[in-house]
Amino acid sequence: KHGEVAYKRVLLKISGEALMGDQGFGLHPPTVQRIAREVKAVHDLGVEICMVIGGGNIFRGLQGSAQGMERTTADYMGMLATVMNALGMQAALEAEGIFTRVVSAIPMDQVCEPYIRRRAVRHLEKKRVVIFAAGTGNPYFTTDTAATLRANEMSCQAIFKGTKVDGVYDKDPKKFPDAKRYDKVTYDEVLQKHLGVMDASAIALARDNKLPIIVFSLDEPGGFCGILRGEGTYTEVH
Ligand code: UDP
Repeated sequence: KHGEVAYKRVLLKISGEALMGDQGFGLHPPTVQRIAREVKAVHDLGVEICMVIGGGNIFRGLQGSAQGMERTTADYMGMLATVMNALGMQAALEAEGIFTRVVSAIPMDQVCEPYIRRRAVRHLEKKRVVIFAAGTGNPYFTTDTAATLRANEMSCQAIFKGTKVDGVYDKDPKKFPDAKRYDKVTYDEVLQKHLGVMDASAIALARDNKLPIIVFSLDEPGGFCGILRGEGTYTEVH
């Protein structure tokens, strides 16, 4: 129903590239701050929020390995990139007056907390935004899979994937004006048609645990809050 928030606990997944604004690389602090305000608006509704941020604005394992670097080393570099993004987002959220914890799949005690499931749950109960860093802690995975894993572990009701477009299309809407947006699409259809919502292992993990994925645009102000209230356009993968 419009206006009502049906969610108690959600996970917001954004790519690292969402933090770089118009720059070609790294973090653009005003953009990070804008996203922090989106998160604050949802936090103000009383919703418990988990976040997973990618690392693609700094380093991607596949890019490194394509240039001759050992894949696992490149993947660890990618995971470290997500920690930098998590710290940047934490700083921006705290500037908005929201308490947060960065919890890392790879322990680095001087920088953030290690990921301990029960502790993370406690943070959420205390209305702290928990940012899950370093992906799954394993090479050969992505932060989409990490997001699905943590959303399951934290009993989130859905994953909200903030992107540049307002849902899942049958082809790239930025290239094809006749691209059609799905209101709802099944996990199997996403896999069969290679719809590029998330990688296949993330989709399968969501499907096997009946975790809905809601794909929406992060570029419209108030987007995240509106989507949680059932307003605006988005795609539900179910
Ligand atoms: N990564 C990894 N294991 C994980 C999560 C991430 O090895 O569980 C590495 C991988 O190299 C990946 C990089 O971290 O390319 C950055 O994550 P991702 O590509 O998912 O970031 P996004 O595309 O969302 O910005």
